[in-house]
This record gives sequence, structure tokens and C-alpha cells, in this order.
Amino acid sequence: MPDDATTGGVTPELPFLRLVPDDASAVRTAIERVLQRGWFVLGPEVEAFEMEFAAAAGTSRSVGVASGTDALALALRGLGVGPGDEVITTPLTASFTALAIVLAGAKPVFTDIDPERLTLSPSAVGEAVNSKTAALVPVHLYGQAADMPALMAVAARHNLAIVEDCCQAHLATCGGQPVGTFGQAAAFSFYPTKNLGALGDGGAVCTNDDRLADRVASLRDGGQSGRDVHTETGINSRLDELQAAILRARLPQLPQRTERRRALAAAYRRGLIDAPVTVPLQVDAGHVYHLFPVRSKRRDALRAHLRSLGIGTLVHYPTPVARQPAFSRFTPAECPVAETACDELLSLPLYPELSDESVDRVCGALERFA
Ligand SMILES: *Cc1c(COP(=O)(O)O)cnc(C)c1O
Repeated sequence: MPDDATTGGVTPELPFLRLVPDDASAVRTAIERVLQRGWFVLGPEVEAFEMEFAAAAGTSRSVGVASGTDALALALRGLGVGPGDEVITTPLTASFTALAIVLAGAKPVFTDIDPERLTLSPSAVGEAVNSKTAALVPVHLYGQAADMPALMAVAARHNLAIVEDCCQAHLATCGGQPVGTFGQAAAFSFYPTKNLGALGDGGAVCTNDDRLADRVASLRDGGQSGRDVHTETGINSRLDELQAAILRARLPQLPQRTERRRALAAAYRRGLIDAPVTVPLQVDAGHVYHLFPVRSKRRDALRAHLRSLGIGTLVHYPTPVARQPAFSRFTPAECPVAETACDELLSLPLYPELSDESVDRVCGALERFA
């Protein structure tokens, strides 16, 4: 192992994630600009970021909010989805997806996933639709798009809105079209671990619908339509100038950082050919590899084996959201494909700063798993 040679035989830790990107000077410049200006919430940095991020996402508008969760909830509310409505989503996602549906006042309904993409199964959605169903929230999981053409067809047949959860899928495409441009609205997160991360929380709603964008912009700022005019009861979900300035400094690097993620994923795919794990298919070349999970029927033992070799991993996700205590009151969902995935998935380290040697080391460790 090359690492041993340089550290006198002590194998260094290879953490699941290291959030020390090499852009500190650009970030400091952005922070300094905000300090000098003395304007800290919803100002010129947020406005500029909203235009720049919309351009990157391929939509006409984006509205900066406090988190990806709020982006989902406010997009749903902005579309008129709320109490009495059901919203169908996937059980294999961050619980925050379902939490956002509840925050909007609607009821989450979980339907099973496609066994290859691991995203919402269009046929399962079709079977679950009823007269209360108002919207779908597909999640572009791990950076790979859900099957949007098929989901759009189901939505059109039943007159449902679509809010895409793009929190793991900045710059991803589906059949060449940017994710976030299929539905009425899309939600992005800038949580520090995401493909575009702030130094704190942040999020955005992207849409081509000006009226929706204006309504979300009002809802995030208490529901004001003008200064001290509260037209509806919104929430406080404003984006900081500091975070917006930092995101503006980082956005130009996102395409090359995405390419690096793809190169690392390709290296894993080559390196894992003989390893005793299943590597999920890349169904769409527009995958942006927020995460790189593999599958094993002995996942927990595999995780312990890697841990003993100093390699950090995480599980995304150990439990279907439908079985989380907070959500079990909603639907007693039968989601056998998601259940099995939750038992088998293990996310390997993958971030732009990861070295090629580290990928080799992880692949070698996986191959030695008996
Ligand atoms: C991170 C994430 C969210 C929530 O975003 P926050 O900014 O943490 O609120 C929602 N959905 C998915 C799929 C995520 O990965």
C-alpha cells in the first residue's frame, strides 16, 4: 500500500468524507466582501446567486431559502399542496424529503422503488394514486435521476404536480435534460456535504414559473408581499448573504468537481470488478455521484472489515422512511425492494479531493473481504 510507505507503516485513516476543499482563498474573499458591505440577509449576494444558480440549473428562476427541506416544503405550498392532500414519494431517501411534505401540511405516501435505479418506481406510483393524490416528489438519489419520462406520464394521466428533490443531484441530467426542469419546481440543498455546499445550511427552489417563484419568495420571508404587508402566513426561511456569497464563489468549480466525482466513480467500477460486492448500475450518464453505494448481503460485516482497515463508510439509508417512528403513522407501506436495499447498501468514500490511490486502497480492501 503506497500510504504505508510514506507514513512509516502506519496506515492513515481514510475518512468517509473530508470537508476541506482547496478553495479557502476564494471563500475568504467572498466573506470579506459581505463584511465590508454590512448587509447580511436577503441582499445583493442572494439576488446574484439566485440568477447564477438558476442559469446553472437550467431554469429561469431560483429562490434562495434556508435549507433543502424548506425548499421542498415551500415549493409544495407554493403550488397549493397542503392539508387534505397526499404526496407520493420514495421510502429510500433522507427523511427530510418526507418531513418537508408534512411541513407543507400534506400526507406523505411511500411507494416502492425501481430495483435498478433505486428511485421511485413509476408503476408503483401509478398503483398508489387516488383522488387525494396531489403531487409526486421523486428523489434523484445519490446523484442519479429518477425515471422522469415515466413519472411525468403518470403525473399527466392523473393531473399531479411534480416537485423534484434535487438535493443530491446538482447538475445531474436525465436523458440529457437537467434534473429540476421536468416538474413544476425543484428543490436543492446546499448543506455542507452536498455537491455544492455552503459553510452552513442553505437551499433553493428552482422553477420556470414566475408566479410560483414570486410566491415562494414571499413565503420564505414570512409571507410578505411588500414591507410589512403579510399576505399569507409564510415562514422565516431566508438565505444569508454570507452563504450566498460563498456559494457564488464555489459555483464556478461545480462542473469540474462533478467531472472528478464521475472519474472517481468510474475508477471504483473498474477496481471493483473482482470484489464480492454488487455495484449499482449507472442507468443514466448524467449521474453526478453525490454518493457511491455498493451492495452486499453481509453489509454490516463488510462495514466492520473496512473500519478495521481505517476506511470510513456510511449507510444511506439504514431504514425506509416509512418505518421511521415519526412517519409510521402515515402509510403501512409495503416496500420490499426498498427494505432489501436498506439492508445491503454501503456508501464508499467519494468526494472530489479523494485521491486515485485512496480509491485503489478501498478497492483492495473490498477484494480482501472474505
Ligand atoms: C440533504 C437532503 C435533503 C434535505 O436538505 P437540507 O438542506 O439538509 O434540509 C432532502 N432530500 C435529500 C434527498 C437530501 O439528500
